[in-house]
Amino acid sequence: MALIELRDVRKSFRQGDLEFEVLRGIDLTVEKGEFVAIMGPSGSGKSTLMYIIGCLDRPTSGSYRLNGVDVLSLNDDKLSKLRATHIGFVFQAFYLVPYLTVLDNTLLPVEYLPKEERKERFRGTSPAERAKELLTRLGMRERLHFKPEELSGGQKQRTAIARALINSPEIILADEPTGQLDSKSGKAVMEVFKELHREGKTVIVVTHDEKIASYAERIVKIQDGKIVES
Ligand code: ADP
Ligand code: MG
Repeated sequence: MALIELRDVRKSFRQGDLEFEVLRGIDLTVEKGEFVAIMGPSGSGKSTLMYIIGCLDRPTSGSYRLNGVDVLSLNDDKLSKLRATHIGFVFQAFYLVPYLTVLDNTLLPVEYLPKEERKERFRGTSPAERAKELLTRLGMRERLHFKPEELSGGQKQRTAIARALINSPEIILADEPTGQLDSKSGKAVMEVFKELHREGKTVIVVTHDEKIASYAERIVKIQDGKIVES
């Protein structure tokens, strides 16, 4: 059984009287432990697809099975729990909460874990301990109590990665994670994803940079809401 399985996924947006079909029949299978890059021109539907894979949005039609679960049959509450346990999301614009420290930003997703999962996910440790370990590993040990505005772009993204990892999800989704970084910090971020992949995580990264995509094992190309090459 594949970890991620999308079949004929379509997504339309209404703008006034007009309806735009942004995803036009996406079939995508990702096996557990794969490292996939999704490439395509601006406006081709990459972010829309990632939001659906990440359970942040629902398709207009089609099917999505995550770990065998029919995602689209879940209500919003169950979907949010599924997201908290299975998925870590990293965005191009970081989306850190400006008034929280690095440590507290990292801890945010813990609040969304169902109570019964919390014990399981933090066996032998605590959220704060795990957050410190992750941040240390990502070179943020000296920055635990800094606010986002005191960080460089690379440091912000490494904080966002720690946040994505705090609940030990098996899937890491990253939408143009290096888009706002200089090439050195971008490479450092991609090295982190490579290492996570080596540890067994399933990683999906959206990029339009060939160099960034070359970190992945497989490249999926999307154009006008369709997969044109895999
Ligand atoms: P990409 O990430 O590949 O640049 P997106 O998935 O962000 O592309 O967007 C694809 C198309 O869908 C764009 O034309 C965009 O304007 C449109 N779109 C995305 N989200 C919405 C939305 N919430 N409402 C209306 N149109 C949207
Ligand atoms: Mg996008």
